[in-house]
Amino acid sequence: MRIDLHVHSTASDGSLTPGSLVAAARAGGLDILAIADHDTVAGVRVAQDAAAGSIHVIPALEISTRHAGAELHLLGYYVDPLRPSLVQYGERASSARTERMREMLELLAGLGIRIGYDEVLRAAGTRPESIGRPHLARALLDRGAVRTIGEAFDRLIGDDGPAFVPTKLITPAEAIEIVHGAGGVAVWAHPRPDLLDAGLPALVDWGLDGLECYRPRVGPADADRITAVAARHRLFLTGGSDWHGEWQGPLGGFAVERDDVSEFLEIGGI
Ligand code: AMP
Ligand code: MN
Ligand code: MN
Ligand code: MN
Repeated sequence: MRIDLHVHSTASDGSLTPGSLVAAARAGGLDILAIADHDTVAGVRVAQDAAAGSIHVIPALEISTRHAGAELHLLGYYVDPLRPSLVQYGERASSARTERMREMLELLAGLGIRIGYDEVLRAAGTRPESIGRPHLARALLDRGAVRTIGEAFDRLIGDDGPAFVPTKLITPAEAIEIVHGAGGVAVWAHPRPDLLDAGLPALVDWGLDGLECYRPRVGPADADRITAVAARHRLFLTGGSDWHGEWQGPLGGFAVERDDVSEFLEIGGI
């Protein structure tokens, strides 16, 4: 059994629609896929309908939070996409992202690069629920203001860039409450091994359920460390590619096995 528990669709900053994502997952030999878009579950039902049982699609989302002055991402799994608290969170996050995109466009205009909001939407190709920097980077590329997506981040919109505006983010405690309120479980996404000891006690207090462990480019030493820490705090493990598009290789090129994430699958009755 081949499993990927962390992929993005065009509902946020992925390059494939939820339906195409399911087709690509099937072609890549995956049996279980979790659609975990930034701050929205808008792609989940479409993907489940497209899969029609051919592969198992787990409802999920990736919530950006701020903790101790830094961004910390939490994955929510097995959430009910129709739960009002979750829908409300998605709407609030979506308008905060729209407002923030407009502020970034103003900063770019101040630097002599005039791009309209409609150009960002056009670069996104669809109308994403969660508009983000990758869409803006594509618009900058289309305009010829940069030569690569990387250059857009390095020179203009990266965390230290002159046109960067941070999103207004909720706290991890609030995010965990939203996930639990929607019937789901909360997982710390791509935890930095050096931040585990400092960050975990508070997150566990707030009800954290699991740690994302298996990822492309995470070596055995870091995976062992995350596994040991998870056992100590009675957290389950997950794993996924954080796939956004073909430039990361084919979907299914990275997968975890059932044994790696069996506790997580059992919680979902899978
Ligand atoms: P946002 O949520 O709008 O702040 O955008 C963050 C997203 O931008 C991340 O989820 C990544 O997909 C992408 N990203 C961040 N840094 C880079 C980078 N240096 N190059 C390409 N994509 C990046
Ligand atoms: Mn992303
Ligand atoms: Mn993330
Ligand atoms: Mn992600």
